[in-house]
Amino acid sequence: MASEIQPHPQARKPCLLNKIDAFQEVVSSAVIIPKEDGVISVSEDRTVRVWLKRDSGQYWPSVYQVLPCNMKMCGNFYFAFQEFILSEDYNKMSPARTYQAHQSRVTVVLFVLEMEWLLSTGQDKNFTWHCSESGQQLGTYHTAAWVTGLQFDVETRHAFVGDQSGQVTILKLEQDSCSLVTTFKGHTGNVTALCWDPIQRVLFSGSSDHSIIMWDIGGRKGTAIELQGHNDKVQGLCYASHTRQLISCSCDGGIVIWNMDVTRQETPEWLDSDSCQKCEQPFFWNFKQMWDSKKIGLRQHHCRKCGQAVCGKCSSKRSTIPLMGFEFEVRVCDSCHESITDEDRAPTATFHDSKHNLIMPHVWSADMGHEPCGVLRFWSAAVCMKLKGQECEATVALEGKRKIQEN
Ligand SMILES: [Zn+2]
Ligand SMILES: [Zn+2]
Repeated sequence: MASEIQPHPQARKPCLLNKIDAFQEVVSSAVIIPKEDGVISVSEDRTVRVWLKRDSGQYWPSVYQVLPCNMKMCGNFYFAFQEFILSEDYNKMSPARTYQAHQSRVTVVLFVLEMEWLLSTGQDKNFTWHCSESGQQLGTYHTAAWVTGLQFDVETRHAFVGDQSGQVTILKLEQDSCSLVTTFKGHTGNVTALCWDPIQRVLFSGSSDHSIIMWDIGGRKGTAIELQGHNDKVQGLCYASHTRQLISCSCDGGIVIWNMDVTRQETPEWLDSDSCQKCEQPFFWNFKQMWDSKKIGLRQHHCRKCGQAVCGKCSSKRSTIPLMGFEFEVRVCDSCHESITDEDRAPTATFHDSKHNLIMPHVWSADMGHEPCGVLRFWSAAVCMKLKGQECEATVALEGKRKIQEN
């Protein structure tokens, strides 16, 4: 690896601010409380805790509540999620409403403050949306596979629905109906997380195939850029639009902070050829040329930069190509290797190891003067991280109304 190459200026390291490790159970969700030094966590034992930082510098729960079990009604099992109101002083959490939306486990819940809509998906493959004012179910849509990622664009009322088959379905939601707009298919594994940047109009999808795809919808050219920086399943994504950084995490504990302020290119299509497009030696299935030229057939490889079909000898070198999303070294042909400068090789992301199975990052940035920080939820503990010297845009997750989801 080209470790001596300096990363692009925006790719700075996060530093550990605090660690909350008083959990007996796996943490399944955690979010920062905006403008407060606090964190709300949900664990697999169905406990919700509101952690506030005390004068001692330690986090102590101000609320500790066990959520009710799933409810049984009319002979059918309904799996519900519940809305809670958190008091202004964070000392009391009271149940407000229960939504019986699904007939099996709820997989994702998304609250859209602007619409007063609660979107949810379940293992019953239903995508539903409710009015959070009235509690009424507004509509439902049957998906092809279990949904594992959900995002919503307020301006155009498009819902992005990522599922276990690896595809992302785009639905246009009306008050009580929805229509299928299109589907994106680019992953070879499940979609595990989605993240929408409404400003640049870019959708990020993370997958168990270790990759992230940036779907540039706002660019209107059909550009899809693959980001290769994880060694294991990508499980969570969040976008800090103020600093234009994407934060992704994977189940091996890897955290990658991507500088999205650089222009990346799409990878080329792989070209077909019966012989090396550099030295013209035949590939092993090309019997005629092998016979005519009395040459042994070679194995076909592809240069990741130009897409040409080349033999192993003409593509013996490896390089990172960060501007094509390859933060790891990949096969390139000799001429492409020569054309890649040290500047081209400068990483556009920084890499960190949290040593835990990470499920989801959450980033929030206060107004000027406040310390920006992010939370990562993962198995058995939670960490607050500060993105050093940077401000990060707030997410709307807890803005205005505070809602907690139960899976
Ligand atoms: Zn060759
Ligand atoms: Zn090449």
